[in-house]
Amino acid sequence: MSEMEFTQDQILRYSRHILLPEVDVRGQRRLLSSSALVVGAGGLGSPALLYLAAAGVGRLGVADGDAVELSNLQRQIIHGTSDLGRSKVASAEEAIRDINPDCEVQAFAERLGADNIRQVVRGYDVVLDGSDNFPTRFLVADCCRFEGVPLVSAAVLRFEGQLMTVLPGQGNPCYRCFVPEPPPPGLVPSCRQAGVLGAVVGVMGTLQATEALKLLLGIGELLSERLLVYDALENGFRTAKRTPDPDCPLCGAAPRITDLVEYDVACAIEPQV
Ligand SMILES: [Zn+2]
Repeated sequence: MSEMEFTQDQILRYSRHILLPEVDVRGQRRLLSSSALVVGAGGLGSPALLYLAAAGVGRLGVADGDAVELSNLQRQIIHGTSDLGRSKVASAEEAIRDINPDCEVQAFAERLGADNIRQVVRGYDVVLDGSDNFPTRFLVADCCRFEGVPLVSAAVLRFEGQLMTVLPGQGNPCYRCFVPEPPPPGLVPSCRQAGVLGAVVGVMGTLQATEALKLLLGIGELLSERLLVYDALENGFRTAKRTPDPDCPLCGAAPRITDLVEYDVACAIEPQV
């Protein structure tokens, strides 16, 4: 991509990036030739997609099987009232195209399962998980591990959010090193049950985009060995160390999980977003 010339419009569009020595023309070229898949065009996916599109990530995948509902609009800011009833990926795609014609959008309107997720994830430089249920969360995390794709995973409930980056390869703590199995149904309430402040989801989705952009640019320190926790009521950010678990069911010395596991969505709780 080093020969890629910027148009005058692109120089203006990305001028605030290009001014940053850590990004510069080279970094912007890198973003334009990179790709990111966002799983879930919901509360987390909305700001993440908007910022990745505005930043000029050249290929953006959007995966979501749902349609826009009225109760989504309190936090899922990529969709508007006129999008009610439309598929979320169609609505998101239209918004992204309007923000930045440099972004090629790949829309996946089907629900991700063990049968199709590997083909969807394969070939992306990074995956951002903003899904709203544990089965999808684990499916995405396991798939990223198997496919060797970095994962930026966020979760939100009530006034609190969590964020971590999972890099592929041995020696890096995987998602299951932190949460080995989905919690039993009913243990963790969902946003549907417990509520969530919309702006808190926006903070976490924006942090997710920031982390993904750092990863694509190869700058800064990633949350690959830490968990970031944001408490909106206390206005506090704290981090907790994450280390590889030798007994991890996915990446430990004797892994039990060697292929994708499809947990039952029907009897699972919907925890986040
Ligand atoms: Zn692990």
